[in-house]
Amino acid sequence: MEHYDLIVIGSGPAGRRAAIQAAKFGRSVLVVEKGRRVGGVSVHTGTIPSKTLRETVLNLTGWRERGFYGRSYRVKQDICAEDLRARLHITLNHEIEVLENQFARNKVTTMRGEARFVDTHKIEVIGESGEIHHFSAGRFLIAVGTKPFRPDYVPFDGRYILDSDEILEIAELPRAITVIGAGVIGVEYASIFSALDCHVTLVEPRNSMLDFIDSELVADFTHQLRDRGIALRFGSKVERIEKHGPGQCEVLLEGGRRVRSDVILFAAGRMGSTTALNLDACNLETDHRGRLKVDPMTFQTSVPHIYAAGDVIGFPSLASTSMEQGRIAACQALGETAYDPPEYFPYGIYAVPEISTVGMTEEEVKDRGIPYECGVARFRETSRGHIMGLETGLLKMIFSLKTRRLLGCHIVGEGATELVHIGQAVLNLKGTLEYFVENTFNYPTLAEAYKIAALDAWNRMPPLER
Ligand SMILES: Cc1cc2nc3c(=O)[nH]c(=O)nc-3n(C[C@H](O)[C@H](O)[C@H](O)COP(=O)(O)OP(=O)(O)OC[C@H]3O[C@@H](n4cnc5c(N)ncnc54)[C@H](O)[C@@H]3O)c2cc1C
Repeated sequence: MEHYDLIVIGSGPAGRRAAIQAAKFGRSVLVVEKGRRVGGVSVHTGTIPSKTLRETVLNLTGWRERGFYGRSYRVKQDICAEDLRARLHITLNHEIEVLENQFARNKVTTMRGEARFVDTHKIEVIGESGEIHHFSAGRFLIAVGTKPFRPDYVPFDGRYILDSDEILEIAELPRAITVIGAGVIGVEYASIFSALDCHVTLVEPRNSMLDFIDSELVADFTHQLRDRGIALRFGSKVERIEKHGPGQCEVLLEGGRRVRSDVILFAAGRMGSTTALNLDACNLETDHRGRLKVDPMTFQTSVPHIYAAGDVIGFPSLASTSMEQGRIAACQALGETAYDPPEYFPYGIYAVPEISTVGMTEEEVKDRGIPYECGVARFRETSRGHIMGLETGLLKMIFSLKTRRLLGCHIVGEGATELVHIGQAVLNLKGTLEYFVENTFNYPTLAEAYKIAALDAWNRMPPLER
């Protein structure tokens, strides 16, 4: 039986980073992946495909130019599903190639097959044609990620009633789509389909969406969605889903309301992919959504030599954070120095428009009783915004009245997920309002919005004592 220092189960962002880190320490590493190719949800059905789809839609529809040329402007008339898929496959192949090369360069061994524990130090891997291989290791990292939650009451058919993995292979673009679930994935797809001129209804049982985002941003974002004609059915529980024929789907909501569309996307949650792991054999238990509990600093499970990272441990379930968790878990597992991550990480929602945020929301600052002041800038106040024809876009910063430190930075609009990193750097380096007021920003840029927002806050802040 082959023995490794570390066996990583799953080759998504968490597994990949952990394996490369362990290899860089000179340890022997095996990555087991049940998928046809490496990369995980991030590369095959999640982050990269959905962002590629978004970019393709924005390019083909001419979305970014409509501020100038009007709502009827299109780069390509009659966009079809094939147009969207073409770019998807090119991007994914490139991503996988980079990954495979990274593994090969760093001498990480990969094995295709489904892993399951035999006992606390051994796994078996069931290959594609049923052959079984056995491996042992000193340490394990479980990085198996998640799969879409598919409750029994949803009659998924792979063509008209789809989950968030299946939507990427949609046969033809719908005229009307109902998206169930206003979490990050639901909101992203709802706004992308709306940019394609599909009639979109977004259904959510709760009365609000994206509760972890600053409410001023959510209000601005919600207004933009409504303005584009997206129907929001919030506070509406789904009672039944019916298909009356091809492309004739109906969602019956509590209270009797009905929503008809050609296609339904069910995007209400995901489950940890832990069923096949035979966790009983290593004395590990999951919660009701198949997720594992770990020490949040070390990523160690209740079994000391078994670690877990990425979506399988739950919030925040991002590729960005999964990579860092995987890297830190590998350091911890192998007894190497691992520094604590900075307090705040950015959150990016690639809806149309983008939302990105780092640090405390205004609601959190209030709850903690911190005296504060906010500064806000609209992208249309920047010259770059004029040049780009932007009508929307908002950047909000929150500063402590006492220390003048930046407490939170929240952006909705074009380029938000890139722009947020300026706020992130200042926040984690414990910078103050003065950083933005006293520094020169490239002109014309959207980043200038930082200065405008800082000056807006400065107008209401007590004078700085020097
Ligand atoms: C539609 C969508 C959009 C997203 N957009 C973003 C975004 O914009 N930004 C962002 O940061 N994050 C985004 N995410 C989240 C991101 O994709 C995940 O956070 C990330 O992929 C989690 O990485 P992971 O390593 O935990 O697991 P995964 O990427 O889920 O990979 C787990 C791997 O383990 C394998 N596996 C499972 N069980 C076994 C087994 N028993 N044996 C062997 N292999 C196994 C699976 O085949 C899979 O390849 C998105 C997710 C979705 C679904």
